[in-house]
Amino acid sequence: MSSRDFVYEKFREFYSSSSFKIPAPVGFSQREFAFLLFKERIMARHKGFASPPLLGSFIRQHVPSDVYYSCAYYETPEAEMDKKGWVGADLVFDIDADHIPTRCNKIHDSWVCSNKSCGFGGKGITPEACPICGGVKFDVKSWPCDVCIDTTRAEVRKLVDMLENDFGFAASEIHTFFSGHRGFHVQIENESIRDLDAMGRREIIDYVSGTGLAVFQKKTRQPKQKTGVKIFKLSDYGWHRRLKNGIRRFLLNATKDDLKEIGVKSRIDVILQNRERILQRCLEENRWDAVKGVGFETWIKIAEHIREVEAAKIDTVVTSDIHRLIRAENTLHGKTGLLKIKFPVSQLDEFDPFSEAVAFKEGTAKVLVSDAPEFRLAGQTFGPFQNKSVELPTAAAILLICKGRAEVVT
Ligand SMILES: [Zn+2]
Ligand SMILES: [Zn+2]
Repeated sequence: MSSRDFVYEKFREFYSSSSFKIPAPVGFSQREFAFLLFKERIMARHKGFASPPLLGSFIRQHVPSDVYYSCAYYETPEAEMDKKGWVGADLVFDIDADHIPTRCNKIHDSWVCSNKSCGFGGKGITPEACPICGGVKFDVKSWPCDVCIDTTRAEVRKLVDMLENDFGFAASEIHTFFSGHRGFHVQIENESIRDLDAMGRREIIDYVSGTGLAVFQKKTRQPKQKTGVKIFKLSDYGWHRRLKNGIRRFLLNATKDDLKEIGVKSRIDVILQNRERILQRCLEENRWDAVKGVGFETWIKIAEHIREVEAAKIDTVVTSDIHRLIRAENTLHGKTGLLKIKFPVSQLDEFDPFSEAVAFKEGTAKVLVSDAPEFRLAGQTFGPFQNKSVELPTAAAILLICKGRAEVVT
């Protein structure tokens, strides 16, 4: 039995079991569904279903490696793209370790240019274009680890804070999911955002990433003003609150190197020796030029750094796309065999995908692992492996096979 047949068989068993159920998204019959088919290796798109049981039987019959639905609502979801009749879309955010520099991606991620005459490769995040030949296709090897999850979790935390406190969504309107690979989806189905066009969604992206913040524009001093306002006047809400708290946290903990790293060149010792006094004068009394030699340039560098730290690193392409296909809840991810699952936003800190999203809980399989880092799944730790034959629990074997790091041994 080939490795692909093995995974197909396990996916088939999973979808045939009586416990399998896809929670229907709002406006179910208005959604386009799409499936990546194992055998044909093609994407079957433009499917519509009148009811969840019909979708369920399609999945059981075809056993796709991945199941998606449109964040959009259409009059005729089965029609061709320009004839579907777009009536609205959910607001979706994708936060994925593929796009965020983590301290682990240099360890477990690598890429090789697919251009046969080139073959150049490297470690870490895959570049947009090959630095040698300019090609844009790569064979990528990645891995989902705890550092990836905690890094993306921190971005979700910032995003949720903005959605709740700045945009005013209730926690019950913010749906948080583990993506099934190495990140999270945040989805809002609320009617108030449904008819936002791509431009409106880009405004939200700009807000979330802190792009175009007005505080960074240098103001000229008005004749009667004595101090301060010419740099920033920070209020207690939105990005101002974020900048204020961020500047305070940063300055109270900064070392000489931290300040140098963000480009502060002069008066570093003065800043470090007078942290509390500076914070009091600047943040509390708005007297930003009260410290001699610490002026506009310095504050802008510090604030730019805080903006970078506080921005939520979302995949901007996903949020602005009003036709986006998104993985369906409770379905398997073809690259891991893990489930996309929902968890309450209040559980964000504790949620553990490597136990909660495990789908295959029974049996074992013998695999030959080419290479894999040490990893944790369903309460057990495995590896590291290098050209090794091992018998592993089904979920671990499937993860390794789906990630291209192992083959079944028969
Ligand atoms: Zn190349
Ligand atoms: Zn990682």
